[in-house]
Amino acid sequence: MKNLSQKIIIANWKMNLDYKSSIALARGLFKAFDKKFITNKIVVLPDFLSLAEICKDFRSKNISYGAQDISPFSLGAYTGEISLESLKYLGCKYVLLGHSERREYFSDEKSIALKVENVIKNSDIIPIICVGENWSQKRAGKTWSIVEAQLKEAFSKIKNLRGKTIIIAYEPVWAIGSGKVVSTTDVSIVHGKIKEFISKRFKGFLPEELGIVYGGSVGLDSYQDFSENNDVSGLLVGGASLKISDFSKIINNF
Ligand code: PEP
Repeated sequence: MKNLSQKIIIANWKMNLDYKSSIALARGLFKAFDKKFITNKIVVLPDFLSLAEICKDFRSKNISYGAQDISPFSLGAYTGEISLESLKYLGCKYVLLGHSERREYFSDEKSIALKVENVIKNSDIIPIICVGENWSQKRAGKTWSIVEAQLKEAFSKIKNLRGKTIIIAYEPVWAIGSGKVVSTTDVSIVHGKIKEFISKRFKGFLPEELGIVYGGSVGLDSYQDFSENNDVSGLLVGGASLKISDFSKIINNF
């Protein structure tokens, strides 16, 4: 099981931007980074509508795009859902699964295993599976037991990861959008345990590549704390990915 061949910086735009602003930001990024030599890989996760437009002129070696979620089901009578088939057609390389905002507001806790199964068994799209504890769980010393339980649930329908690339995003819920960043020591501990979990759980059926990224209030004042950390394969960035000047600095210097 190898680490990702390049460090990865993932922009989660959430529902922060409307269609027009998403397209403008995507074009700005494309202009700044398409032809530039950079060592990191950039992944952009716009909302579904913008994604359908962005994918038309967004074929870049440096920048890939993906979706913020996926239906747990294959094509059928599921009003309001977006299928894996559509994401494949659009050329998505990545999909975010089980983000804490989806777990909190859209009951994703219940569907995460089906979503992971759908993506892994039916496509080569790389899942970015989010895990992380909330503040009271951290204070109670339960960080690892919560993350482990989330990993067990997420992979409960998967036996074999051979040939796959998997990304796990450790995002403590209390750090997301709060301005509080976890210490790099704590991040290293959790990332190490996540790696150990995957190694034991999939012994003999390991993924080809495993990336473990950190997310939670990463900004100009904190991203460098993680760049020297070998346990961190990259970053998942929310707020700081919305301003091209800030995000460019992170991309260029991580
Ligand atoms: C996120 O929600 O994935 C995230 C990392 O957000 P922020 O960087 O704004 O904390």
